[in-house]
Amino acid sequence: MAKEEDKNVVVLGAGIVGIFTALSLLERGFKVTLVDRDGPAEGASHGNAGVISPWSVVPQAMPGIWKNAPRWLIDPEGPLSIRWPYAPRLIPWMRRFFQVGTEQQLPSTADAMLALNRPNVDLYRYHLKGTGKEHLVVDSVYLHVFRNPDDVDPNGLGWRLRAERGVPFEVLNVGELHEMEPALSPDYKAAFLIKDQARATDPGGIGKALAEKALEMGAVFLRATVQRIIPQEGGGYSLDCGDTQIAAPRLVLTAGAWSARLLATLGIKVPLEAERGYHLILKNPGINVNYSVMDVKRYFVASLMDAGVRLAGTAEFGGLDAKPNYERARMLKGLAQSLFPAINSDDTVEWSGIRPSFPDSLPCIGEVPGHKDLIAAFGHSHYGFGMAPHTGKLAAMVVNDETPNVPMEPYRVDRF
Ligand SMILES: Cc1cc2nc3c(=O)[nH]c(=O)nc-3n(C[C@H](O)[C@H](O)[C@H](O)COP(=O)(O)OP(=O)(O)OC[C@H]3O[C@@H](n4cnc5c(N)ncnc54)[C@H](O)[C@@H]3O)c2cc1C
Repeated sequence: MAKEEDKNVVVLGAGIVGIFTALSLLERGFKVTLVDRDGPAEGASHGNAGVISPWSVVPQAMPGIWKNAPRWLIDPEGPLSIRWPYAPRLIPWMRRFFQVGTEQQLPSTADAMLALNRPNVDLYRYHLKGTGKEHLVVDSVYLHVFRNPDDVDPNGLGWRLRAERGVPFEVLNVGELHEMEPALSPDYKAAFLIKDQARATDPGGIGKALAEKALEMGAVFLRATVQRIIPQEGGGYSLDCGDTQIAAPRLVLTAGAWSARLLATLGIKVPLEAERGYHLILKNPGINVNYSVMDVKRYFVASLMDAGVRLAGTAEFGGLDAKPNYERARMLKGLAQSLFPAINSDDTVEWSGIRPSFPDSLPCIGEVPGHKDLIAAFGHSHYGFGMAPHTGKLAAMVVNDETPNVPMEPYRVDRF
């Protein structure tokens, strides 16, 4: 018979991954303490583009992506920026990024992404049921839009990866595209349409509703900033928060971009980078946007949310402690106007958050080698809102000694 304290689990980080982990543990009869220095879902999980796609199988590292980098870096409206003083520290991560983005490695990465994402819409609906916030997840398609129809190539590597995995997509011509998204600029002439997915109309609101549900199911929320994880003699961990210590007989680390820094207090190194992104909300857009729309060349996503039309994107590498540069959010206004010429952009809200990114776009999920009862569930890069529900379930299965329903090898903590 398990000791009572074996049922106590601390989940460190109340972003969307920590919240789903808490819910999945509670369902299995564990007693959960959710720890965060802020409120639930106030990090990256608050301000993302709200795309919930079972079909996200194409990682960031793709063959030939380096060819775009110089152009992106010199364009002030480009999707990539680097804080130059930080560049030398980024080199090892970049080297790995280019190493994993090969045609040989891609199929296994795509399979591992699919395995995490595939049940995401169903799991969102399952967990939201009864919260009164079910309407915050709506059925959607994903439009990847292009100005030049010649760029719409179903034989391109990314689209072949999707086709081989049964992703339901089709090519739209200019007429079909504008029928679906009438506010789109006539400059856009073709698109890929990915079917059968969903979008969030308030990602942060979903996180808060699910965190509320976890509390109703018995979870305890502690607001504290953890500075160190200290292994205890006889097992378990103590979370050092400066003035307080939190006992964690079992610990799931879901601290997003800050997870590597916390693991480093145990002497464990993982190549996790802070990849800052931005959003701009146009509060009174005066137009309708029906679906998730990605401008593929400019690499940002537009979606109509409860608060207005949200433009989200950009990847900025400057380390975990670099302050946001809100110029990167403001530049999204011009991009919004080029995508939707009639959009009203008078009243805006700027936001920034940090993606936790590994070179292969996959998270770490599973026990940290050499550290019994310390389970990793972090590093979801551009895909964490969609990957969160299944990650939470898998992390809870690991804690509960169940055999996970997907191969866990690709998410190993020591794979690098
Ligand atoms: C602009 C942008 C657009 C995106 N669009 C999408 C999208 O459309 N679809 C998609 O699937 N994904 C998207 N993502 C990615 C997704 O948002 C992230 O992968 C996901 O939110 C990560 O969730 P998380 O719970 O791991 O991290 P977070 O939400 O960052 O949560 C981590 C939590 O840990 C807490 N924490 C950290 N350190 C400590 C500490 N020492 N002590 C106490 N608490 C601590 C933080 O306060 C935070 O609340 C986007 C990201 C960005 C930035």
